[in-house]
Amino acid sequence: MCLPSQTESNTLITLALSKGRIFDETLPLIEAAGIRVLEDPNTSRKLILPTSRDDVQVVLVRASDVPTYVAQGGADLGVVGLDTLIEHQAETGGNDLYQPIDLRIAQCRLSVAVRADFDYDSAVQKGSRLRVATKYVHAAREFFAKKGVHVDLIKLYGSMELAPLTGLADAIVDLVSTGNTLKANHLVEVDHIVDISARLVVNPASLKLKRTALQPILSAIDQAVAPRLYTLS
Ligand code: AMP
Repeated sequence: MCLPSQTESNTLITLALSKGRIFDETLPLIEAAGIRVLEDPNTSRKLILPTSRDDVQVVLVRASDVPTYVAQGGADLGVVGLDTLIEHQAETGGNDLYQPIDLRIAQCRLSVAVRADFDYDSAVQKGSRLRVATKYVHAAREFFAKKGVHVDLIKLYGSMELAPLTGLADAIVDLVSTGNTLKANHLVEVDHIVDISARLVVNPASLKLKRTALQPILSAIDQAVAPRLYTLS
């Protein structure tokens, strides 16, 4: 099949977003670049959403697929949590994405949590082997290796909090925001791995081939993020 070639004057920019917090919190930032999404992903069944700009469209993908879409050229830009990015980079070996902007949205932290009655510190001091359930196996492996703790990692895709309660694991590595989910499940946070926020990622080839179209969008988003630094500090 022969696809129509794009010239700089009719360049189409595709932005990959996942539904939920990242989608909602990205909207005000892209509005700064004059991009308004014209359909609500909660009511529309479309996976490609038009925007107020003819040259920009949004594609809805799973959060864990955003890095792949952008790295492989299915999208030019994407917004993805650092947690997902760390796992993607460990799996692909690294440098397939340009990351120009920390958007400072969807902020939380990646932490280790255990049952309130589990003595994590003494298990670590004794050199016990820990069973750790997580979706974030690469980040967890690196963290415990640096700490000198032997772990058996158990890969889960959700409801990590259940693992220590059912005896599946001694600890979990998961995202924590308010801490309410841990509290509700009688778990306590015992180690902090890394602060998380959403990052804008860009396909390196798009940055070269579509620079004229992309640069003003990146600058507008960057400026929309910058004032937030003052309100946060
Ligand atoms: P919280 O009860 O506010 O500490 O939120 C914890 C729950 O929300 C856990 O199930 C996390 O996996 C999820 N969570 C918290 N922050 C984020 C985020 N920025 N992105 C995705 N999931 C998150």
